[in-house]
Amino acid sequence: MSSRHDRILSPDTATAYLKISDGCSNCCAYCAIPSIRGKARSRRPDDILLEAQKLADRGIREIILIGQDTTAYGRDLKTRPKLSALLSDLASLPGLSWVRLLYTHPAHITADVLEAIAGHQKICRYIDLPVQHIDNTVLTAMNRGVFSERIREIISLSRSLMTDVALRTSLIVGFPGETKKRFERLLDFVKEARFDHLGVFTYSREEGTAAAKMPSRIGEKEKERRRDLIMSEQADISYAINQKLTGSVQEVLIEEKSDREGFAFIGRCRRQAPEIDGVTYIRNNGAKIGSIMKCKITAADHYDLYGELL
Ligand code: SF4
Repeated sequence: MSSRHDRILSPDTATAYLKISDGCSNCCAYCAIPSIRGKARSRRPDDILLEAQKLADRGIREIILIGQDTTAYGRDLKTRPKLSALLSDLASLPGLSWVRLLYTHPAHITADVLEAIAGHQKICRYIDLPVQHIDNTVLTAMNRGVFSERIREIISLSRSLMTDVALRTSLIVGFPGETKKRFERLLDFVKEARFDHLGVFTYSREEGTAAAKMPSRIGEKEKERRRDLIMSEQADISYAINQKLTGSVQEVLIEEKSDREGFAFIGRCRRQAPEIDGVTYIRNNGAKIGSIMKCKITAADHYDLYGELL
């Protein structure tokens, strides 16, 4: 994890992931990562900025900040650098167009991080907030270090600072102790929170974790039923949110040619992270891969957007 060596990038890519830390000092009951990767170790800000500038100089337009818990950034360093300051410094680097932050933790994300995201035009108004659950008994059993009240506060603060923010979350269903009532609480929360993007995992036992020793009587079929219920609810929410975007103008990073009939290119707008969210299909010919162009959204389904370049 250092800027000393140049990264190998695929020739047409305009996006690069940039690791700001490795390891994790949290102890989520279901997760084996801390025992595999060790405690959180943050990179020095100057090293991160140097790597980001090198990437920008090589034509990268979007950098995506990653780490097991990006919002724990800097806590392990003597100088205690702040994630909000790092975001602001990255946003002022010449050449970069988009900075995206992934893998925040609801127990650690702070108002100053949200304000930094809201306050810089180059930072995508996209919050990846894996909440995992909303029921306080389940959150406690998961050892997430956060309760539902705080999760709701972050969502509402994000939306009050940025009316156009895209919120993504991931959830775990079927965790030991998730009774029918606790699951219903989660389903109600999904309806209430209306995330733009949401993924659901069924709980699976990881050897060596605290949760592996918890008694669980939730069968695989029931876990899948719970996952499908949430996904079906979310499909309607995502569809409604995407429909509202028709007629809007979005910046789109053109990524590749499309072989879908009627569409020449595939890109992503600021509210779409690569690999996990949908894409934007572009009708027009003549776009340049790797460029960021303005696009009018003309149609949408529950996953993808469709548009024409202006
Ligand atoms: S789930 Fe994420 S935050 Fe929790 S211990 Fe694992 S890596 Fe750390």
